[in-house]
Amino acid sequence: MKTYVVGGAVRDELLGLPVKDHDHVVVGATPEQMVAQGFRAVGKDFPVFLHPATQEEYALARTERKTAPGYKGFVFHTAADVTLEQDLVRRDLTVNAIARAEDGTLTDPFDGQGDIARRVFRHVSDAFAEDPVRILRVARFAARYPEFTVAPETNALMRRMVDEGEVDALVPERVWQELSRGLMEQKPSRMLQVLRDCGALARIVPELDCLWGVPQPEKWHPEVDTGIHMEQVVDYAASQELELPVRFAALLHDLGKGVTPADKWPAHHGHEGLGVALVKEVCARLKVPTECRDLAVLTAREHGNVARALELRCRTVVKLFERADAFRKPARFLQLLQATECDARGRIGPSGSFADTPFPQRAHLEKALAAARAVNAGEIALGLAEQPQRIPDMVRNARVRAVQAALARGDEPDDDSVD
Ligand code: ATP
Ligand code: MG
Repeated sequence: MKTYVVGGAVRDELLGLPVKDHDHVVVGATPEQMVAQGFRAVGKDFPVFLHPATQEEYALARTERKTAPGYKGFVFHTAADVTLEQDLVRRDLTVNAIARAEDGTLTDPFDGQGDIARRVFRHVSDAFAEDPVRILRVARFAARYPEFTVAPETNALMRRMVDEGEVDALVPERVWQELSRGLMEQKPSRMLQVLRDCGALARIVPELDCLWGVPQPEKWHPEVDTGIHMEQVVDYAASQELELPVRFAALLHDLGKGVTPADKWPAHHGHEGLGVALVKEVCARLKVPTECRDLAVLTAREHGNVARALELRCRTVVKLFERADAFRKPARFLQLLQATECDARGRIGPSGSFADTPFPQRAHLEKALAAARAVNAGEIALGLAEQPQRIPDMVRNARVRAVQAALARGDEPDDDSVD
């Protein structure tokens, strides 16, 4: 029996990048022989074993055959006579289909090394078309290795897969898994571009795809195109190494601009409110985890108010905190500020750039929230035990006064009627 390192580890070594984990393929062995050597069997669908000492994954060389639509419709075949080349040909990309033997020799039947040198993602064979997850993987790899391009013939194949409806067979969990991983890479805009180039984004998140071609006012958005704005916003979030919920919220914050009637362009009045329902739809369809969904909904709804923070009266600020549940969830409010900062900075075009524009809204609202949170609501409630219906108003008034003091806005008219 012979073992080889395959896939990402070999690719990343050749790229001179750090290697996280090693995938191995074993040729010429039976499951019984693996177990006899102390490996532990873990594969559900096909034989995979964990090394007794390193716990790394060793898969028996296998072939696969498509038998039904969707990514589960595969029949696998493993046997001691399956060759290394047979195992490599079922892999997605040439750069992922290089094997390294224990003595260091490379087996590279599809010139993965050439594609690494050219910085190209190219499919290994037409069997690529049998698994739509591969489209998502190519898009995610593009976000991780932004200098790579997709080979024209691979893009054409992906486009054909999309046209034939393969992408519609993807289960939401798998779409979310790949999208969220791509968002966490260094250049998420590349994922969006690859998904758009083959038409997949229009099938997976049409609410997002339709933003390309929608104009915004050039004075505030030198990039003009709303889709380009989304690319810049997620790349800014990645450059700041922000967490997944913030990146996801930034990506979806302007969905409402996709439903503005064209005769109203480039204005988008009320897009915040319109975006909320669209964000909820996307999140329900992709089964997005609650934390990501809640921040995305909040950001779609409130990013305009956060951006206007310096002009808001203190009472309006306190109401914003209430709607955002900021007293109970201050960390999430900070994420809302971060996502809105991405929105403010991701505006770069021929006529100007907001990439380095200050974002004083953040410090302003953080200071206001700290002051409002210092108000002892419990004490106020105790003092009003006889008139409990007055408690919410009194708590709010105390918070407004605290914010006024903190922001030195003591002389501001405290009139609720104009909100
Ligand atoms: P990462 O650095 O993200 O782990 P990777 O290339 O190692 O990247 P894995 O998901 O660990 O990706 O898969 C290991 C290898 O298995 C890949 O390099 C590829 O050769 C093959 N592979 C994984 N998923 C697929 C797929 N859906 N279709 C074809 N080959 C696949
Ligand atoms: Mg891997």
